[in-house]
Amino acid sequence: MTVFHPPLREYIKGGGYVELEEMLGDDLTPARVARISYLSEGTEEANKKLLKKLIDLEHFSPFEQQVFRFFIKGIPMYIGEQLLRHRIASPLKRSFRYTHPEKGVKEKKWNDVDFWNGLVHVPPEFLGLRKHHIEDERDLLDEIIRHYQASFELYNKLVEKGLRKEAARCVLPAGLRTTLYWTQNMRSIMNFMTLRLNKHAQWEMRELAKAMARLLLRVVPITFGYFLKKNNLEELLEE
Ligand SMILES: Cc1cc2nc3c(=O)[nH]c(=O)nc-3n(C[C@H](O)[C@H](O)[C@H](O)COP(=O)(O)OP(=O)(O)OC[C@H]3O[C@@H](n4cnc5c(N)ncnc54)[C@H](O)[C@@H]3O)c2cc1C
Repeated sequence: MTVFHPPLREYIKGGGYVELEEMLGDDLTPARVARISYLSEGTEEANKKLLKKLIDLEHFSPFEQQVFRFFIKGIPMYIGEQLLRHRIASPLKRSFRYTHPEKGVKEKKWNDVDFWNGLVHVPPEFLGLRKHHIEDERDLLDEIIRHYQASFELYNKLVEKGLRKEAARCVLPAGLRTTLYWTQNMRSIMNFMTLRLNKHAQWEMRELAKAMARLLLRVVPITFGYFLKKNNLEELLEE
C-alpha cells in the first residue's frame, strides 16, 4: 500500500480538484498476481511485457488487485450523480443533511463570479473555458449569479425559521459543488475512462476523468499509458 503524503493533486478545468491519497499495488502488480495461474515469478522486464499482454487479451481480472483512493473536491452535484452510476466503485460523499452548503466559506463575495464558481458550478461557456456562442452572455451570467444568490438567501431563511437542512436544500441550485471519496480498482477505472473520456460524455465529466487520468499516469504509467494508447484515448487527454 502506498500512502501519498501529501496527496498527489490535479486540478479539474472549470473548478475543483482530485487528489490521490492511497494506492494498493504498483504498476506491475497485475502482472505479478496474474502469475498465480502458473505459480511462476517473472523479471521486471517479463512483467512489463505480461502487463501489456493482459491488456491486449482483455484479461482484466488481475487489474482488480490495483486499487486507488481518490478525494474529489468541488464537483457539481449532477456530476457526482453521474459518477455514482459507476457501481463498481466505493463512494463516500459529503452530506448536505448534516452540513451547511456554505461551510468552509471564509468570505462571502456575492458579486464575484469566482466566488460563486467555487460554491456552485458556473458553466464553462461563461468562464471562457469552452467556446460556444451564447447570446447576451454577460446579462445571462449576471442573471445566473442573482439566481444563485436568491437560492442561498432562501435556503438560509428557511433554516433560520427552523426548517431542517435536509428539507431546505431543495431550493439549492443543482450545480452545488460537493466532495467525496472515490475508491476504484483499475479494471473499473478502465471501464470508467472508456466511457467518460469519450467525446459523448458531458464536458464537466470529461474534465474530471482527465484529472484522474493525469494522476494515474503519474503513478502507474505503464499500465495506464498502455491502456490509453491501446484504446486511442491519449489524444482525448489533450483536448
Ligand atoms: C454518454 C453517457 C450517457 C449516459 N446517459 C445515461 C442516461 O440517460 N440515463 C442513465 O440512467 N444512465 C446514463 N449513463 C450511465 C450509463 O448507463 C452507466 O450506468 C454508467 O456509465 C456506468 O457504466 P457501467 O455500468 O459500465 O459501470 P459500472 O456500474 O461500474 O459497471 C461496470 C461493469 O460491470 C458490469 N455490471 C455492473 N452492474 C451490472 C448489472 N446489474 N448487470 C450486469 N452487469 C453489470 C457491466 O459489465 C458494467 O460495464 C450514461 C453514460 C454515458 C457515458
